[in-house]
Amino acid sequence: MVDADQTFVIVGGGLAGAKAAETLRAEGFTGRVILICDERDHPYERPPLSKGYLLGKEERDSVFVHEPSWYARNDIELHLGQTVAAVDREAKSVRFGEDGTVVRYDKLLLATGAEPRRLDIPGTDLAGVHHLRRLAHAERLKGVLGSLGRDNGHIVIAGAGWIGLEVAAAAREYGAEVTVVEPEPTPLHGVLGPELGQIFAELHREHGVRFHFGARLTEITGQDGVVLAARTDDGEEHLAHDVLAAIGAAPRTGLAEAAGLEIADRAQGGGIVVDARLRTSDPDIYAAGDVASFHHALFGSRLRVEHWANALNGGPAAARAMLGQEIAYDRVPYFFSDQYDLGMEYSGWAPPGSYDQVVIRGDAGKREFIAFWLKEGRVLAGMNVNVWDVTDPIQQLIRTRARVDTEALADPHVALDSLVP
Ligand SMILES: Cc1cc2nc3c(=O)[nH]c(=O)nc-3n(C[C@H](O)[C@H](O)[C@H](O)COP(=O)(O)OP(=O)(O)OC[C@H]3O[C@@H](n4cnc5c(N)ncnc54)[C@H](O)[C@@H]3O)c2cc1C
Repeated sequence: MVDADQTFVIVGGGLAGAKAAETLRAEGFTGRVILICDERDHPYERPPLSKGYLLGKEERDSVFVHEPSWYARNDIELHLGQTVAAVDREAKSVRFGEDGTVVRYDKLLLATGAEPRRLDIPGTDLAGVHHLRRLAHAERLKGVLGSLGRDNGHIVIAGAGWIGLEVAAAAREYGAEVTVVEPEPTPLHGVLGPELGQIFAELHREHGVRFHFGARLTEITGQDGVVLAARTDDGEEHLAHDVLAAIGAAPRTGLAEAAGLEIADRAQGGGIVVDARLRTSDPDIYAAGDVASFHHALFGSRLRVEHWANALNGGPAAARAMLGQEIAYDRVPYFFSDQYDLGMEYSGWAPPGSYDQVVIRGDAGKREFIAFWLKEGRVLAGMNVNVWDVTDPIQQLIRTRARVDTEALADPHVALDSLVP
């Protein structure tokens, strides 16, 4: 049983941290809940930053996890704009803020998320080089895309991952000229493999995006702080007024590392190692969201999932575990994306090399289909594109691990539910 005089500290006020605080109260915890975040904004959701909010279709107020008054009403001690500098595991305390305030914890949750990887090339300090993780980044980028659109300006995007592609779509909607530079031969290569990546390349080309595959940026040239061009390792030069570095995110493990917690191998995505209860190598410290690395029995691999649903569900799961409840965090990874008029959801995990077959159900040409990635006849992952309300059967197919009849799987006239054993 958890005492009312206990103190639970949450480091990181993203979706995972905010949802953990909400769950602690919803589960009846009456002790102190302290939520510390280095950002000045109240906890918010990041998906709109590359979609509706960036496009000016969603208001700033709509991105927040809770309205500002919710924290005081729920007796959550919120410290915004304050960085946690150290965790002292022996004293069970954290030190934060400019004045080095120390607070003791009974249980600690690390929900420190991830930060954009930086381009390590000359020219990245020019004012026209951008990253996209925070609300302030999105505000700035929105202004940049607006003026590029008005002036027929050019943006070079490094990286054809989800964020790179979503910003490419937004930039085209503003009327900017867009070039995406990507070392792999197709967009989203590491997630979808070459077969499905091609569909996203075609979608963007139809909307006027230029791709430069098989190349990396080597230099951003400029004058008086202004970007002029971006050079690639094959000797090409692309006209650019702005550059977005969208080359992935690195887990913010610094605090955990300094505190001596176990960290996953970089080859496995890095992150703070947690067990099925989201507990780190210290039984009083938990981790959730983008920063946590957990072993997923379904895929026989350690995973670090950098997606909204993992923060939405992982934060509450960690909160329940902190309260002593028996939990086993084994959700099928899930994410979504919107680009132009294409909406998609993806469940599972099937990077190139892990699958031996791709099955398409529906019309890929019309971009209304479900793609399945299989290994030895078993579904590892499924992506529905402009087809809705199929996440449950897709996830059940993944969970059951049963061999499926691939002809029936490809046939839209056969109900997906009927394939679930
Ligand atoms: C532009 C963008 C678009 C996205 N779109 C999608 C999408 O369409 N679909 C999808 O599934 N996912 C999407 N994601 C991913 C999703 O937003 C993340 O998975 C989610 O934000 C992770 O939440 P989190 O709480 O784990 O981490 P974060 O949201 O990163 O929050 C962690 C917080 O902790 C703070 N922090 C870190 N260290 C400290 C410290 N020492 N002291 C104090 N505070 C600290 C950080 O500044 C941050 O505020 C998107 C992400 C971005 C950036």
